[in-house]
Amino acid sequence: MEKVLKEITPKSSDFSQWYVDVIRKTDMVDYAPMKGFMVMRPYSYRIWEFIQEAMDRRFKETGHENAYFPLLIPEHLLAKEAEHIEGFSAEVAWVTMGGSEVLSERLAVRPTSETIIGAMYSQWIHSYRDLPVLINQWANVVRWEKATRPFLRTTEFLWQEGHTVHRTAEEALRETRQQLEIYREVIEEYLAVPVVQGVKSAGERFAGAVDTYTLEALMGDGRALQAATSHFLGQHFSQAFDIQFLDEDGVLKHGWTTSWGSSTRMIGALIMVHGDDKGLRLPPRLAPIQVVVVPIGRGEERKRVLEHAQTLVAQLGESVRIKLDDRDEFTPGYKFNDWEMRGVPLRIEIGPKDIARKQITLARRDTGEKTSIAENQLRLRIPELMKEIQTELFRQAFEFQKTHSYNVDNYHEMDQYGYRGFFYADWCGSEDCATRLKSETGMTIRCLPFDEFPVTGRCVVCDEPSQYRALFARAY
Ligand SMILES: [Zn+2]
Repeated sequence: MEKVLKEITPKSSDFSQWYVDVIRKTDMVDYAPMKGFMVMRPYSYRIWEFIQEAMDRRFKETGHENAYFPLLIPEHLLAKEAEHIEGFSAEVAWVTMGGSEVLSERLAVRPTSETIIGAMYSQWIHSYRDLPVLINQWANVVRWEKATRPFLRTTEFLWQEGHTVHRTAEEALRETRQQLEIYREVIEEYLAVPVVQGVKSAGERFAGAVDTYTLEALMGDGRALQAATSHFLGQHFSQAFDIQFLDEDGVLKHGWTTSWGSSTRMIGALIMVHGDDKGLRLPPRLAPIQVVVVPIGRGEERKRVLEHAQTLVAQLGESVRIKLDDRDEFTPGYKFNDWEMRGVPLRIEIGPKDIARKQITLARRDTGEKTSIAENQLRLRIPELMKEIQTELFRQAFEFQKTHSYNVDNYHEMDQYGYRGFFYADWCGSEDCATRLKSETGMTIRCLPFDEFPVTGRCVVCDEPSQYRALFARAY
């Protein structure tokens, strides 16, 4: 019996409903019984695992090791770095009871781990010989958010947080930039999401950081998403947590620390950058299923086609993540739509005529293009196609970003584009101007892009001489 394929709201008519439809109907996530929490189902968790693998390998290649620190942080530790606690206090979940006993000190469910890790580092680091410390943690964190949205903002989310200590400021800064580059590489080359790199303005930087470097991506609805950040923490945390070392010159000095993080939020970016009216479009490097095989044939032919398809899948299975859709309760047409919705990069159709001609039909999810090729070409052609689709998705996203990036001289000009897109404009550097723009238009300074040079124009808000060329956008 044919089931009617569950409808997805068109992306162009209601982007946020489209997003919710896509993630639920493709079995990526479900809502948990508690408000603000989500369940990552296997289809999205597999994508996370691929992202983890790509990141983790690069972290290790650059000398980092993984470790694990406790989920709960005593209040006095969290409060040690003043700016840090101020930045997070509104979002912290607290444990106040253990069994039936009221705790003498509240324990915070970690919103991030600088404080507990800093406390441990102060015990581990004594001499310049103990440096650098290069540790990463894969973990979950909790931030009590008021408005939530799966992947983009949930009360609990998965991430990695790197925490390093260095002998000099220069070395820590190098580390901060190096990790940002790793993020850029994975996000552009695996997620196929183009990013703008830059430094956060003072008002937007991480609580307790000297500088926050960021990667900003443009979503399909023209809003920005911060894809990953890397923080140069100076000596703020080493002073708060007494991370000191005896240097080669015999002088006791504070270490220079960094932290850097990326989260399951990236999966939200992946969906919003590549998805279309039919559903997901997954880049091959992260697709849980890269190729789906749909056999076509009725009655007597069905068995023969299925056997042929099984042989094909067995032959190709080593080189690609391939799935045979042998469900007999659905028509081929239903299956085509279903796998398109799930974003599988490539579909192989095989029917009696194809078998007779020793050929198969290929359908690309990224372009919708259909071609027939000789079956004996398949083994060579599939890996090439995986690369081509990966490249094409990045190209399309880059093109979208380019055509939705605008240079403006006056912030009222942003209005004509509905405040959707990346807006490059001069900024005097005053937080008052940033605040005024935000309250009037909802636009924030996403970053001061590395690629933009100091300018001599006038602030897009107050018309005073500018100090920076900034990237403005409405953000998730
Ligand atoms: Zn100004």
